[in-house]
Amino acid sequence: MPELNMYIDGQWLGARSGSKRQILNPANGEIIAIAAEGGREDARLAILSARRAFDSAVWSEVSPAERAKLLYLVADLLEEHAEEIALLETKNMGKPLRESRFDVADAAACFRYYAGLITKPMGQVYNVADPVQGLVVREPVGVCGLIVPWNYPLLMSVWKIAPALAAGNSIVLKPSELTPVTAVRLFRIFEDAGIPQGVANLVLGTGPEVGQELAESELVDLIAFTGGTATGRTIMKAAAGNMKNISLELGGKSPNIVFADADFETAVDYALFAIFANQGQVCAAGSRLLLEESIHDRFVERLVERARQIRIGSGDEEGTEMGPLVSAGHMEKVLHYIELGKREGARLVLGGQRLKLKGLENGYFVEPTIFTDTTPEMSIVRDEIFGPVLAIQTFKDEPDAIRVANDSVYGLAAGVFTNDNAKALRVVKKLRAGITWINTFHNTYNEAPWGGYKQSGIGRALGTFGLDAYTEIKQININLQVQPIGWFEN
Ligand code: NAD
Repeated sequence: MPELNMYIDGQWLGARSGSKRQILNPANGEIIAIAAEGGREDARLAILSARRAFDSAVWSEVSPAERAKLLYLVADLLEEHAEEIALLETKNMGKPLRESRFDVADAAACFRYYAGLITKPMGQVYNVADPVQGLVVREPVGVCGLIVPWNYPLLMSVWKIAPALAAGNSIVLKPSELTPVTAVRLFRIFEDAGIPQGVANLVLGTGPEVGQELAESELVDLIAFTGGTATGRTIMKAAAGNMKNISLELGGKSPNIVFADADFETAVDYALFAIFANQGQVCAAGSRLLLEESIHDRFVERLVERARQIRIGSGDEEGTEMGPLVSAGHMEKVLHYIELGKREGARLVLGGQRLKLKGLENGYFVEPTIFTDTTPEMSIVRDEIFGPVLAIQTFKDEPDAIRVANDSVYGLAAGVFTNDNAKALRVVKKLRAGITWINTFHNTYNEAPWGGYKQSGIGRALGTFGLDAYTEIKQININLQVQPIGWFEN
């Protein structure tokens, strides 16, 4: 049985307490590894290690080109072992292999993007009152605590690690306690690539222990978190002690709006992709489908017909289109929401059950599930379920579509399907969401800023904006005529 340890100050260590946790394959409930279960003490050691590394300037003050060279090497090593890593991801969190392969490729591309970006000219020069010349420079923030969820274990880690390391910071990563496998593999790559000792640290363990220590520690300068909105709120409070910088990528309940004039089959196809990719465990999932009234019945009929044909199975079998949910606990949460939906009076038109597949009876599979006849106050319309559960809403016209779409505490993403380009842009400009798509869904690019309005987060990941969280900005004012100011006469 593989043993997964933590990487602290360049050494692989078990938990100081000796605690361990079984890591499961959600497709069959089998144990695939035993992981060290770190606690606050381990987190403190990792934070001290990152602090020492940062203060020693071993990474923060080497040239951007030197840092970039190592990050390009990390990308190459990820690619070299892509198939192995994709399989590890699928076995640990359940997503179909084709999705894990995509994630690994994207992770490598993210390292390359930030390796490239950090070597480009940055900052500003400003001319104010003579004889002063002003400069604006970016500097690393310091020690970054990075806390990530289980839905994209590798990719969510890399979205934070790549800009953080490129900018010259030291890091402590805490993956979800359910999905540490690819994070451990990534840190072996850091070791092989020669990232200096103490710069990149990995602590395994739970949120209330390791995560909370990172959020509270006075030695941590920034906390970057991806996960649920409720956890984000707890972290924000914990981070207030030393006024840490914060970056929060939180939940969503994203609307996917389909107008009657949209290309019908394209809209159906994307509606499926929007909610059922990664079993619906995507922050930006199109979990609310907004249909113009005149196409509702025909659209639902076709959607159900297509959703019925989705191939469900173990993610590591080629051809599987939907895998299991990540854990028994999460499956129970999703099934609970399905019951709530029924109880609150929505009409279940597809799915709704746990699936016991032959040979995978202990897997956490839930059928693709679709509800119609929903009302705005229902839990399945308001709450993030984070599973393969679609709530369909209707709208009368353009203003109504905007009103229904914006009726949420979240504001992460939104899609609009129509063949009228002007209408599409008009609608998108009125949507209170940070990521929007016209006649497409889920496109995510290393080049484009990712993040939400309202309770979906603070700040942006990726793109040039993604560097903002990991850099402090300093103004430098240079007096070009060195002589006394003469403010006081004597
Ligand atoms: P979660 O909030 O339960 O956990 C996320 C991480 O935070 C885990 O590592 C967890 O151990 C840790 N954590 C939990 N309690 C903590 C505490 N008190 N202090 C510090 N850390 C703590 O989320 P999850 O269930 O792992 O992931 C699903 C959520 O992530 C969904 O809400 C989803 O929308 C969100 N998500 C958002 C984005 C985005 O970019 N906006 C991307 C992926 C996932």
